[in-house]
Parts: sequence; structure tokens; C-alpha cells
Amino acid sequence: MARTLFTNIAIFDGTGRLPYRGEVAVEGNRIVGVASGEARLDRAGAAIVDGATLGAGRGVTLMPGLVEAHAHLSWPSSVDRVINAMSLPVEEHLLITARNARVTLDHGFTSAYSAGSLGTRFEVALRDEIAGGWLPGPRLKASSIERAPGNVFGVPQTHDEGHARGAAAMRAYIKGCADIGIDSVKLLLSGDDNFTPGGSQELAYDEDEVAAAGAQARESGIWLACHAQAAAAVKLGVRHGFRVLYHCSYADDEALDMLEAKKDEIFVAPAVGLAVAAINADPSFNLPKPLVERGHKILELQSRLVPELRRRGVRVLPGGDYGFPHNPIGRNARDLALFVDVFGYTPQEALMSATKWGGEIMGMGDELGLVKESYLADLLLVDGDPTQDITLLQDRARLLMIMKDGACHKAPMRVAA
Ligand SMILES: [Zn+2]
Repeated sequence: MARTLFTNIAIFDGTGRLPYRGEVAVEGNRIVGVASGEARLDRAGAAIVDGATLGAGRGVTLMPGLVEAHAHLSWPSSVDRVINAMSLPVEEHLLITARNARVTLDHGFTSAYSAGSLGTRFEVALRDEIAGGWLPGPRLKASSIERAPGNVFGVPQTHDEGHARGAAAMRAYIKGCADIGIDSVKLLLSGDDNFTPGGSQELAYDEDEVAAAGAQARESGIWLACHAQAAAAVKLGVRHGFRVLYHCSYADDEALDMLEAKKDEIFVAPAVGLAVAAINADPSFNLPKPLVERGHKILELQSRLVPELRRRGVRVLPGGDYGFPHNPIGRNARDLALFVDVFGYTPQEALMSATKWGGEIMGMGDELGLVKESYLADLLLVDGDPTQDITLLQDRARLLMIMKDGACHKAPMRVAA
């Protein structure tokens, strides 16, 4: 089995511990050895990746691949290709989605938890093509479309099916998603000021429907994720077993208590990237003024919310709703810097939330998200130390190597035999 040995590196292992000098060995798709300090690993038959010969002489850091917790690979826009439309002919749309998967991996994200797709089976098909090694992209947890009652929020529905009201329709929908192999069903539990003025405070479903979703998801063995801005929407989600709660901007004390009580079962991803993108959008995007105002409001709310969740030990993950023209896919690593600048995380904590907790949100915490023996070899070799400057992860050129499942998606320039 092919063996790769990394030497003369600093290791950020994903636990939040600061980087330490050491060596790492990979065989097949697994990490088979981690040594610290002066200890040396077996070199026999190994391709050596020598950190001393790579980068700009400031040292290189080996770390787990990043995990995007709020991915929308079918939102069309990426850093090098702005597309001013959300609904496209299905053929173009699927190809663009597949390309966005590659762009995500190009920027160091080796896993993505989807927060909603624009095609019913897009992500199931894409996940399986990627997992089979036929297309480049992150490990993917495939989502349903974003289910909401038809048109109540003025959300353009790209699908006619699946939006019917009532507990029975909800159960049938969730079961149908499980039957076609979807990993996570996304429901809009609240609206959003982005859709309609005041929408963030409107609830999309009644308690019976959300309870039916929870019961059917447990029966079918499928995960639930929700868009929840209003405090009441957050509470609905927590009460009925939603595993991933997005935004949560208006969570009140009671909602915070409920999130804390379930902190070992749930994940929160505030999606702050989108708010900041609206505030900083280039005038050429002509963002409507309410969208920019909403960005300021969300930033203000979340800069109080997230530090409180952090204090309570809730797992809050980066992931910023990337895929819009003003917030394109490929910019995802900016969320980590926002965790530091806006929410007060240390860089190593922000990195831990995107790696260790990233493995956990993928449901693979026992084998993904750490540089640790027996873990999957999803690794980045970074030019410099991201715990000193977390913004360097936003520069593709600083990602000297991107390894996923033991295979080099991007190879370092010099590998000595
Ligand atoms: Zn989203």
C-alpha cells in the first residue's frame, strides 16, 4: 500500500491544541502514524513530503481538511464564475453544481454538510459520484430541497412537489427523501427578512407538522436540518429532534437554554458569512437596501448570540451560505476569520470547529476531523501557521497540498522518493 510520510512540519491536530512539531504517515486512505517532537516514523517505501523544502520558508502546517457546515453546492455562483440566477435549466444546473463541488475542494474543504439543494436528487447523485472517485469534490451529506409551505414567504419554489401542508404530507415527504437516499432534510421553520419584510418572525409550519417531521425522521433514520430565525422556530426545531439548526439569530433565553440542554446532539451554524457579504457587497451587485440592512441586523444579533452559545458549550460551526453572486462558493474560509473577529473565538478554536466538530456534524467523528492515527487522511498542508493568521486559509495559493481520502487533489510541488 502506498505510504506517504510528512516530515519537518507543524501539526495542527484539530483538537484545539496549538501546533506541534512532528511527523505523520498515511497509508491508503488512513493516517497510520503520528509522531511528535524528535520521534521518527518508519520511512521504508514512503514518499517523503518534506516541509522544509516547501512554502516560503515560514514553516508549513499539516491540519485536517476543513468542513463546510452550511453548503449549497447548487447555488450557482463561485469565486471565478458569477451567475446571476438561482433557477437554471436542469442540465446546466447539475453541471454547475458538480463544478462547485470541485471549487469547494480546491479551497481546502474536504467535507460539506448540505443546507439545501435546488434539485431533488442533485446531491444524492453528486455525493455518490464523488464517493466513487469519479468526480472531484468534498465528502458530501446530501440534502433535500428547502421545504417550505408553497410560496408563503415569497420564496421562488423551483419544485411544485413536496410543499403540501399537514402532518401526513410531511411524513410522506420525509419518507420519500429517505427512500431516494437523502442524508438530511432541510425545512424552513421560519421565514426570513431576506424573503419578505418581517419574515424572520413568521413560522412556516404548525407544531403538528414539525412533530410529524421529527417522528418520521426517527423512523426513517434520516437527519433533519432547519432554517430557524425566530426564537419560536429554534424551539420547534430543538423540541422535535432537528440535528442542525441554522441561523438562530433571534434565539431568546429560553431557546438558548434548550440548545444548551441538547448540546451533545445538535449543531448550530449561524451562517454569518452571508450577512457580512451583504454589508460588504460591491455596489455593482446592486443589492436591495433591505438586504444590506438585514445583514447589519443579523450581524448585531449574532455577535451577541454566538459568544453566548460558545460560553454554554454548544457546537457552533462555520458555514456561510455561499453560492450567491455577492457571496460566492470558494470564499468559505472567510467564515473562520469571522468566528475570530466577530465572535471572539481563538484561531485554534475556530479551526477546531471546522475540523473536529466538522467530523462530528458529518456523523463521522470517530474517523474524520482530526490528525490522529486510524483517522481518514483528509489533510491540508498550509504554507504558514493558521493559528497565527487564520486569514491565510482564504488564499488558495497557501494550500500547498489538499489530500482527500488519502488521494492528492492538489499535490505539493516537491515530493522526494
Ligand atoms: Zn442557506
